Amino acid sequence: MNFSNSYVKLSDIFYEKIRPAPVRAPQLLLWNTSLAKQLMIPNQLEQDQDALAQVFSGNRILHGSEPIALAYAGHQFGHFVPQLGDGRAHLLGEVLDQSGQKFDIQLKGSGPTKFARGGDGRCAVGPAVREFIMSEAMNALGIPTSRSLAVVTTGESVFRDSTLPGAVVTRVASSHIRIGTFQFFAARGDHESLKVLSDFTIERHFPELREEGPNKYIGLLDNVIERQIQLVAEWMRVGFIHGVMNTDNTALSGETIDYGPCAMMGNFDPQTVYSSIDTNGRYAFGNQPKIAHWNIARFAECLLPLIGADTDKAIKQVEPLISEFPDRFNQIYVEKLGKKLGLTSFQQEDQKLLFSLLNRLKERNMDYTTSFDLLTKSLMSEAAASQAKNEFGDSFELWQQRLSEQQENSQKIYDLMRQHNPVVIPRNHHVEAAIQECEQHGKVTLAESFLNVLRSPYEELATTSQYQDPPEDGDKDYQTFCGT
Ligand code: AMP
Ligand code: MG
Repeated sequence: MNFSNSYVKLSDIFYEKIRPAPVRAPQLLLWNTSLAKQLMIPNQLEQDQDALAQVFSGNRILHGSEPIALAYAGHQFGHFVPQLGDGRAHLLGEVLDQSGQKFDIQLKGSGPTKFARGGDGRCAVGPAVREFIMSEAMNALGIPTSRSLAVVTTGESVFRDSTLPGAVVTRVASSHIRIGTFQFFAARGDHESLKVLSDFTIERHFPELREEGPNKYIGLLDNVIERQIQLVAEWMRVGFIHGVMNTDNTALSGETIDYGPCAMMGNFDPQTVYSSIDTNGRYAFGNQPKIAHWNIARFAECLLPLIGADTDKAIKQVEPLISEFPDRFNQIYVEKLGKKLGLTSFQQEDQKLLFSLLNRLKERNMDYTTSFDLLTKSLMSEAAASQAKNEFGDSFELWQQRLSEQQENSQKIYDLMRQHNPVVIPRNHHVEAAIQECEQHGKVTLAESFLNVLRSPYEELATTSQYQDPPEDGDKDYQTFCGT
């Protein structure tokens, strides 16, 4: 692999140079063949399972890689922690993919760093497999996300509430720059490093801003806002609950990162929370847009000193971008929901239809994915239409009426709806079953067959129906954990 290490070229306050801590008996558990191809992993390496296990556990460092752990801070559940950082992750370096796009290759669970704050630096098999499955599903759904190249078991135990098998997961992301990375320097009043970081981010993600002079930091904020809005609106489209939207888990690239306590909403309810530590529902499904707004405001605060020496003036420049966030989000969000309903353009009056439909889902405890799938199918099947009429009542009539005003042919509407309504999502009980098989038996049969289906989320394969069933108990007692 051809590593470059641009982050290492920044000053050493940005990171700690540290090698992964070797593990006893690494074995390859999951491997992402198509991602490996995209990243042009050399054939010789790919065909040698033992070599893959050595490399992607961190036991063997490839030529050209200079492992580092990144410094960052962050607001966790609204409370600022000035020093977090990669406590159990090592950035091996950056590689170019087939199309010339740059990606970070990072090991997670690869040993403690100076940012570990008492943690063991390790990761259990469960959370590693969860990250692999969820990120692969999100990617196939068309949602920006970090990806997983490999899960390697370590042959060692990790000690949590119980003793669990350990693993290292390889995360591939277009960068690991977080809002918390900016906060790390802002909190220290280190404006010089803030500027270096901002310019690095612009170079990496928004090179078109390069020539924009002093305005480029406003441009950076505007672009980061746009990506967060797109991202969270996409989460809302498919029922994804991130679960721990702390500023250190918000990537500037606009990719989903940190798959700790994430889950999929079954029955539609904006108040849905699965994370065991989110007792106040701060990160509930329906709160995600508000939290993204809050996080963006924290990011804007970091940029103020770069925008102008006169803080009041800088605030005045930033203020409109922050205050227009909710409207800007809403516009993108309703357009996406409109497409879930086959509307080629969303009109102000459609709010009523949307409200009526979502209300119906909530009042009747209807499954989000299944319901939109049924509406989609109702365009092509009499049986589905009559079932949908039953389930949606008056809202169905309203919707039909609206569609007829559109004068599009039903095939076109169907295609639009199909593209926005998955037939299958990584349902919590299936994710848990696949994880259990890996954890308890070291077997990946279930994980692989599930992944095969999740990789075609808008299409019914022969085995898709095995994974479409909503949870019997509506996931009412389901809980996720941070995976630490
Ligand atoms: P997370 O909840 O994964 O976003 O992690 C929050 C912070 O805790 C980050 O700084 C992590 O690097 C750190 N952390 C989480 N688990 C561990 C662990 N097992 N060992 C060391 N640091 C950890
Ligand atoms: Mg994190």
